[in-house]
Amino acid sequence: MGVPTPSRGPVIELLGAGKTYKTGTIEFEALRGIDLAIREGEYVAVVGPSGSGKSTVMNVLGCLDTLTRGSYRLAGDDVEQLDEEELADIRNKRIGFVFQQFHLLPSLSAWRNVELPLIYAGVPREERRQRAVAALGRVGLGDRVNNKPGQLSGGQQQRVAVARALVTEPTMILADEPTGNLDSVSTADVLALFDQLHAAGRTIVLITHENEVAQRARRVVHVRDGLITAEELTAA
Ligand code: ADP
Ligand code: MG
Repeated sequence: MGVPTPSRGPVIELLGAGKTYKTGTIEFEALRGIDLAIREGEYVAVVGPSGSGKSTVMNVLGCLDTLTRGSYRLAGDDVEQLDEEELADIRNKRIGFVFQQFHLLPSLSAWRNVELPLIYAGVPREERRQRAVAALGRVGLGDRVNNKPGQLSGGQQQRVAVARALVTEPTMILADEPTGNLDSVSTADVLALFDQLHAAGRTIVLITHENEVAQRARRVVHVRDGLITAEELTAA
């Protein structure tokens, strides 16, 4: 796993970040002014109860949604100034996403799922296969590359999703409740993978409603009702 080049400023910088959802005539303020700076290589958990705005934060950080107030700078770029093509490029190459529901395509084998981001990135076919198989090896699934998701346990499916997040060699991993559907053994496997990724220099933002999971990060940011209520450094 390549160690990304360190940069001086924060890789993620939210300033006064606000998000208001409009449903018909009803407005809901999901983020109410969040200041958050994350440096390259940090392992940060965002923890809070259901409805506190965690997924909204993740969608903003991943350039999947935009703020209604404040600013988001990613690696020094003001995300609001980027066009759709530049945003798609960031989502595809710079960020690896992991979701609670895995989001694997059931008809494709593990390695075919893992190669998908490389297809979008325009990587040639044979290199795609080699890199997908190597990524599955890194998550301990070298002997399952031809299995379809339905032939794998939940924990194995999430490891396929982690391999897919890694295959483009992103500098940052964004994970939204990645252990939310897993038993305790699989949860431990996935968290051990994140420890390895952090040790290899990746920036990790782990979103969870479980404080015990959050404590695996080095820094924990507590959110409630769209605001940061506390921050702590852990013993991890
Ligand atoms: P969490 O991930 O912490 O459970 P979310 O960020 O998903 O919280 O949601 C925060 C709040 O914003 C919730 O009250 C939710 O109902 C509301 N919300 C989220 N997405 C939308 C949306 N697309 N439209 C309207 N309200 C939304
Ligand atoms: Mg959520």
